[in-house]
Amino acid sequence: MSQINLENDDFRNHLYNQSKDGKRLWIYPGRIIGQFYRLRSYFSYFLLIALFGLPWVEVKGQPIFLFNVLERKFIFWGVPFFPQDFHLVALGLVAFLIFISLFTVLFGRIWCGWACPQTIFMEMLFRKIEYWIEGDDKAQRRLDESPWTQEKILKKGTKHLLFLVLAFAISNTFLMYLLGKSAWLKLIQEPVGLHIAGFSAIWIFTAVFYFVFARFREMVCMVVCPYGRLQGVLLDNNSILVQYDHKRGEPRGKIHATETQGDCIDCHWCVRVCPTGIDIRNGSNQLECIGCTACIDACDAVMDKIHKPKNLIRYDSLNGVNSGTKLKFNLRIGAYSAILVLIVGFLAYLLITRKPFETTLLRTPGITYQFDEKTKIVRNLYQIEILNKSMEAEQFEISVEKPLILIWVGNPIQGIEQGKMAKGEFFIQAPLGIRKNGEKLPVHVRERQGKEEIIKTSFIQPDAE
Ligand code: SF4
Ligand code: SF4
Repeated sequence: MSQINLENDDFRNHLYNQSKDGKRLWIYPGRIIGQFYRLRSYFSYFLLIALFGLPWVEVKGQPIFLFNVLERKFIFWGVPFFPQDFHLVALGLVAFLIFISLFTVLFGRIWCGWACPQTIFMEMLFRKIEYWIEGDDKAQRRLDESPWTQEKILKKGTKHLLFLVLAFAISNTFLMYLLGKSAWLKLIQEPVGLHIAGFSAIWIFTAVFYFVFARFREMVCMVVCPYGRLQGVLLDNNSILVQYDHKRGEPRGKIHATETQGDCIDCHWCVRVCPTGIDIRNGSNQLECIGCTACIDACDAVMDKIHKPKNLIRYDSLNGVNSGTKLKFNLRIGAYSAILVLIVGFLAYLLITRKPFETTLLRTPGITYQFDEKTKIVRNLYQIEILNKSMEAEQFEISVEKPLILIWVGNPIQGIEQGKMAKGEFFIQAPLGIRKNGEKLPVHVRERQGKEEIIKTSFIQPDAE
């Protein structure tokens, strides 16, 4: 692959990593260590530990997170979700979309730069391995252009071997989130012949992750990711983004060239360190900018050297840059943040108040009632289904208020395994006229912990004389 041309300012006509004839230009981002890079590193270590560690954590023998799409089993923060919880999932998704939209309007692509797994894996794992083995951007470029010597084979071979190992680890972690720890352990401990599909999945995911991080890289953000492509409609002039202060920086020019020149000395350091190869001086709302802050660190280091104030590139809004006012907490940020807190609170409320079991009670269709003329006793037949949505087996007690009597047909429902559903049938018996016609009748379903659901159902009877 040919190299990116840093001097090329024909930026509106093609992607930065693409030549005019459509060929991919390989990006060699320079290594820069500054305050933002350090903060991002610490934050990403925390995220990586969480990401790789969480599949090993179990609560009451169940994973804390599970996204088993095939068996439709989902566990989120230890709370299991079932197809019956679809309304919660739908509400959660709507709230999540509103959250993402508001968050982006306010804080731009902070997610992309600080928390997206693509950026974290690429910049904090794969890129660091590349720097460690092949050196900085200049050394990497030299190595790529050099003939295949023993040293080059060794360096490239070691790098790609480590990339494969990392891709394999990510693939297995991904599978643990899909299957759960126990099923994954079974998969890797038992003979391959018993788990052909599982083993194929491990190697397919490994190949995909290896390809993404070894070759595809920034193309994920530029071409594939829908969130990146939505930025154009989500951002406005008040959104906080990585901004170049054009008022202070322009007209750019070599240091001490003229008295009237701006603070940008056109050193291209901000472009050289950019993992997507763009020039932030062409504007903040560029599709390719993932808000990684590398250009802030690079420019701050340059400003330090030439004894100018830092923050020529900084987090700010376009209006902030244009008006020259400092970024401060204003009404808009406060209002949007309040809405974000409300949405998160609402989701938390839905999770906390979610019932640990769900009951469906129906009067058996096609049957009206049984009536004993002598005793004046009426009976209705019911069908009941109880789904135990908790993480442990539960005992249930189903009852009606006196003088009504509940009589099971067959075995009564009592203990139900975690995540399982039990079905049963019973009669409710009542003296004729004890309840008015059309009046609903409460059935109490109580579990061992004392949580109770009262279901009102119909009870039909002949007209009392
Ligand atoms: S690093 Fe700063 S001074 Fe250098 S080109 Fe970029 S904006 Fe200008
Ligand atoms: S322009 Fe700056 S913040 Fe945006 S991707 Fe490039 S280095 Fe990161």
